[in-house]
Amino acid sequence: MQPVFRFAPSPNGLLHLGHAYSALLNEQEARRHGGRLLLRIEDIDRLRSRSEHVQAIFEDLDWLGLAFDGPVRFQSAHMDDYSKAADSLRQRGLLFACDCTRQRVAQEAKTRALLLSDQVSTDPDGAPLYAGHCLRTPPQPDQPVAWRLRMQAALQAVAVGDLSYQAFAGHTESGGSDWLTRPVAPQRWGDAVLLRKDIATSYHLSVVVDDALQGVTHVVRGRDLEAATDLHRLLQALLGLPSPHYYHHDLITDTDGAKLAKSRMSKPLRLWREEGATPRMIRSMLGF
Ligand code: GLU
Ligand code: ZN
Repeated sequence: MQPVFRFAPSPNGLLHLGHAYSALLNEQEARRHGGRLLLRIEDIDRLRSRSEHVQAIFEDLDWLGLAFDGPVRFQSAHMDDYSKAADSLRQRGLLFACDCTRQRVAQEAKTRALLLSDQVSTDPDGAPLYAGHCLRTPPQPDQPVAWRLRMQAALQAVAVGDLSYQAFAGHTESGGSDWLTRPVAPQRWGDAVLLRKDIATSYHLSVVVDDALQGVTHVVRGRDLEAATDLHRLLQALLGLPSPHYYHHDLITDTDGAKLAKSRMSKPLRLWREEGATPRMIRSMLGF
């Protein structure tokens, strides 16, 4: 089976060096494994996604010399796929409706922390963990609601202790890749929101559904998304989807902090281009 890689930017801004690094690493690994490279536009967030950013992404990737296989997948065109996945979880009682505001979630987390004389527990993104308000007091019908995963029930449904994924552990001398089996701890996400109040999906749900529908076998993305993989692995198990191999690369600010200061990192690729950088220069600056 031919491996499938993907680059999946969100069109809520211009691509910068960090994106270029991730895209080029995907290209490199796809070549190394004789695989295909797909492009997916993660545009579920209608307020933040802009068509001019989509155009800019196409242009910048093209300028870098990146070529993608197959048609581009736009998440916004596949809301049905996400509702189907959500329905299947809902039918098994794994989701519950929640009308909490951010403030109520934060307030409840604080109250609970006080009661336990402990600190507020947060998820890996730093958001307060859900303390269960709507499990005790379900929202009134016809309220706009988000749908959250019943984490405890989900963990039991899949025997979470047995769940793991294949994580990249370095290249072999022959140019292949070493993988290690990594266990997951999705409970640190708590009752995560899978369908937002404003859009009937979420990053976590869409990414898992899309990777499966697109036959992605290798996910190459930044370390900032490593913790999310634990939740993604849980969702894959709940939805009966295959689990790709994961390569979480260092963020180039970490590895090359001195040479690539934050301001340079966040400078849009098109600005580099306007200032006379060539694709070859960008590639070599990033180690390709
Ligand atoms: N769209 C996400 C981002 O731009 C990446 C998603 C992924 O690679 O899983 O941060
Ligand atoms: Zn709630």
